[in-house]
Amino acid sequence: MIFLGLDIGGTKVELSLLTLEQGSSKNSFSYQDQSFHWEIINRQRISTNRLDSYSHFIERLEFFCQSVCKDSSVSFDDITGCGLALPGTVCNFTKKMLNGNSRFLVGKNLQKDLNDTLMLRCPVVSMNDANCFTLAESLLGAGKNLHQKEKERYKNFSCFGLILGTGVGGGFYYQNKIFQGRRGSACEVGHIELVTNGLPCYCGRSGCSEQYLSGPGFEASFRTRMYGQILSAPSAKEIFDLHEKGEPMATATIIQYKKYLGKFLGNLIQSFDPSCFVFGGGMSKEKLLYEDLLSFIKPHTYVKENIPSITAAKLGDSAGSLGACLLPFIENHEL
Ligand SMILES: [Zn+2]
Repeated sequence: MIFLGLDIGGTKVELSLLTLEQGSSKNSFSYQDQSFHWEIINRQRISTNRLDSYSHFIERLEFFCQSVCKDSSVSFDDITGCGLALPGTVCNFTKKMLNGNSRFLVGKNLQKDLNDTLMLRCPVVSMNDANCFTLAESLLGAGKNLHQKEKERYKNFSCFGLILGTGVGGGFYYQNKIFQGRRGSACEVGHIELVTNGLPCYCGRSGCSEQYLSGPGFEASFRTRMYGQILSAPSAKEIFDLHEKGEPMATATIIQYKKYLGKFLGNLIQSFDPSCFVFGGGMSKEKLLYEDLLSFIKPHTYVKENIPSITAAKLGDSAGSLGACLLPFIENHEL
């Protein structure tokens, strides 16, 4: 089986071609008690160009898909399924993207329009990119080795994927699929209120978790603490470096961030009780984030025993396109 996955982000589009065959190997994963060997045949990127018109963007995607498939000697007829990871909520009924910063995609049914152009003879499926990240990390990445252990002990495996990057997003893998909710908007956790009467958010509300837990939110918190005493605007990574050098305001910013993260995770644990959390996005790369995180979470949980494990993503920037490849795979298994 060959799957084509497209991760459509605000700045780049990544395409992965993935083969999946039944059988176990060093590179295999378990799904519904069957073992599958996976391998990436090809992976390439182009820029998104936000100023493009929608029709020109589809033309570029068509050319991109054709050229990568040609490169790998794969014809469209060989493809078992195609998945799209989109930078916004995808409506469960209309398949239109409901929101997001990539305005040219909002209100559009990309899975239909792309299929009309490519004329694939296989299912085309689309979902929010945080859901695709969660799916890939649950099956192929950080959650991969937990399945068996969790099933033996708790009869189930679930994984909550949390993106702490330019924005904050989430996805919940449960009972062998992504939990989407009624409209497809489940786990849009970046807009859960974390602070009462807090910072204003672009969604029109205030105190949203994204304002505190995103990379830009963390950076803004440091700049506020410095009371305008700095001319530059240090990146999140530079703030962690400043902490290493003993800058007390950097340390205070990190501690405050972990307090917010602990409260947020405590609330998610009470709602979802997952087997594990997998963190993605720029902030997830900072090792200091994971140190002693439990002590920040426990005050915010009711059940304090066996708190879910928390790890960083393992698939790097490719989790989105790999998760997109897996969308038609799991959909096919539901039939
Ligand atoms: Zn918001």
